[in-house]
Amino acid sequence: MAKFIFVTGGVTSSLGKGIIAASLAKLLQARGLRATIQKFDPYINVDPGTLNPYEHGECYVTEDGAETDLDLGHYERFLNIYTSQANNVTTGRIYQTVINKEREGAYLGKTVQVIPHITDEIKRRMLLLGKDDKYDVVLTEIGGTVGDIEGLPFIEAVRQLQWELPEEDCLVVHLTLIPFLRAAKELKTKPTQHSVRLLSENGVHPDILVCRTEEPLNNDIKRKIAQFCNVKPEAVIEAADASTIYEVPLMMLREKLDVIALKKMKITDYNEPDLNRWKGFLDKLKYPKSKVTIGLIGKYIELQDAYKSILESFIHAGAMNECKVQVVNVHSEFISNENVGEKLDGLDGLLVAPGFGHRGIEGKIVAVRYARERGLPFFGICLGMQMAVIEFGRNVLGLADAHSTEMDPHNNNPVINMMEEQKKITKMGGTMRLGSYPCILKEGSLSAEIYGATEIAERHRHRYEFNNDYLEQYENAGMIASGVNPETGLVEIIELPNHPFFIGVQYHPELKSTVENPAPLFVHFIAAAKKYNEKRLSVKNPLLHSEMI
Ligand code: GLN
Repeated sequence: MAKFIFVTGGVTSSLGKGIIAASLAKLLQARGLRATIQKFDPYINVDPGTLNPYEHGECYVTEDGAETDLDLGHYERFLNIYTSQANNVTTGRIYQTVINKEREGAYLGKTVQVIPHITDEIKRRMLLLGKDDKYDVVLTEIGGTVGDIEGLPFIEAVRQLQWELPEEDCLVVHLTLIPFLRAAKELKTKPTQHSVRLLSENGVHPDILVCRTEEPLNNDIKRKIAQFCNVKPEAVIEAADASTIYEVPLMMLREKLDVIALKKMKITDYNEPDLNRWKGFLDKLKYPKSKVTIGLIGKYIELQDAYKSILESFIHAGAMNECKVQVVNVHSEFISNENVGEKLDGLDGLLVAPGFGHRGIEGKIVAVRYARERGLPFFGICLGMQMAVIEFGRNVLGLADAHSTEMDPHNNNPVINMMEEQKKITKMGGTMRLGSYPCILKEGSLSAEIYGATEIAERHRHRYEFNNDYLEQYENAGMIASGVNPETGLVEIIELPNHPFFIGVQYHPELKSTVENPAPLFVHFIAAAKKYNEKRLSVKNPLLHSEMI
């Protein structure tokens, strides 16, 4: 059986529990241990799939089609492994299981209660990934902040496991904040003392305290925290602000977080950490040789977490190209034919983002046209691809009313249509086309060249698709379907061969981009933006399409 590390958070939210958990897992992995991470979220939604991105940021989709918390994206990007439905559990899912069992009569007439039935189900799921000898260490991040009412059953489950498991098989890491009061020029330990006390009142004793701080923690402060919070001084870890999240594993290595964890878990069989590829990536990220500006056209741009995986993919792809990628957010609602030139001025590439619903789509279509006509590298993801299809239909094929039935259900030219299997679905949660599907690439296409393969698999999250009734018309006019699902014939990729880089994908390539394996489409999109940038700076305005290709 594996060993279990629980990561809790105190004082305030947004301290970066996911990054600390992922960094510790990365270090253990770099030392040769098999590590995975899971997230337990206290909210009642069964999964975050039905949540508005403004509420909870992006919904991350796993290979097996689970709609999960965006922290799973960090886990995959750091560890370069796949996670699954089992790696993200919410209160809603726990209750759903327990209530279903109760309806089946599985509790044999007992009163079903939070303790033991809910906590037993939480514990069962916490231990699940540790079975079958797949992992040496399973890390569990507990969402929310200690003291939240809805988090109590999770904390209680950790308490029981801390008591039930052999001492060396269970480790609790508590992430906390040491604020610096500028007026007093002092770091304050009291909030941390309170949060550890709150945890202790619930019966959980932390083994390691990771302290977020803006100022270095000297030994006196560390000793004070250790003494008042009842942990060893070496188990008080400083987590200073980092310039990039990808620096955090190295900072934690310097602070010996991994060594302390290994010692407590009595793991003696480990190697010196192999972080060569990670460090290579960081060097390229920190010392870029060029710079490009990419416009991210979306409607959730006020909240950066809404496009988390896309922004991280740009970081991976930028490093690969030794190029700094500056992302400029452009709100699609405010783009019109009149101002598009001004709004998109100075860009080297355009990414039209995924999304749902009507708001802001006309602006996206105007932006696609601008990119298509000027030879500006264009990358459309999911809804972004669908907008490229609509734009081409309207402005090249002359189908003035071309649209998606998502926005215009009774349209005469539904170039984007609801998928057949979606038509009978009435429930919202977990019912889209989700997870990994294979895709065959057309030989000689840009997509095939970029992937260096003819068969790929990518992850999906959508209900609508390219309407194949129009395929011939599109291909004859120069927009080709360069990627198609081998079983269903659904169009997965469209491209314009007579454009420097114009690709739209129905799937989400950003979900599989990791530090060690950046998504090929992002890497090549940035390479195309670099080329555009070089030309843009070397020719006089205005740029003409013919100049760019
Ligand atoms: N709303 C579109 C669909 O459901 C696109 C979804 C997306 O961008 N993820 O097909």
